[in-house]
Amino acid sequence: MNYITILKIIIKMDKLKKLIVYKIDGINYIGSTIESLNKRKWKHNSDCYNVKNKNYNISLYIHIREKSLQIKLIPIAYYFVSNKSRRYAEQYWINKYDSINNWLKSINWINKKKKYHKEYCKKKKEKKKEYNKEYREKNKEIIKKKQKQKINCPKCNCVVSKRNISTHQKSKKCKKLMLLHHQL
Ligand SMILES: [Zn+2]
Repeated sequence: MNYITILKIIIKMDKLKKLIVYKIDGINYIGSTIESLNKRKWKHNSDCYNVKNKNYNISLYIHIREKSLQIKLIPIAYYFVSNKSRRYAEQYWINKYDSINNWLKSINWINKKKKYHKEYCKKKKEKKKEYNKEYREKNKEIIKKKQKQKINCPKCNCVVSKRNISTHQKSKKCKKLMLLHHQL
């Protein structure tokens, strides 16, 4: 091999990252990381127990919380990979362990998902209600003023109070005036 070819190979290798494919102990879940296993474990824990995290409600973490499992990562393979090939390395092990099918089956995920989704929606609704109530109480005066506020109806240009605008726009008066404006 000539110098340039060797150089090209070395440059390529420099860009590769060490990938660790791991399995979560006790769960047939395969993941991979280019960071250390400890860091990845820390992130799994943060995702699992921090409600604000967007991954909080994925099946894996719901399962872990429900069963009070410890997150322990067991390395199963190491690779030097590019960003593009990373996915394939992980997928090889997911297929080998039949990870997706197996573990979703094992926790009867579909029913659980429905249950959690319902609870989640309910909680969200309640929170919104609470927030709206608080908002109304804090801003009583402003809301009152706003409701009394007069505006021009954008359809017919009549002066109406803001709170009545939708009723007004359904009225015959508004429709008639609007027609008139169009004819002019
Ligand atoms: Zn109108």
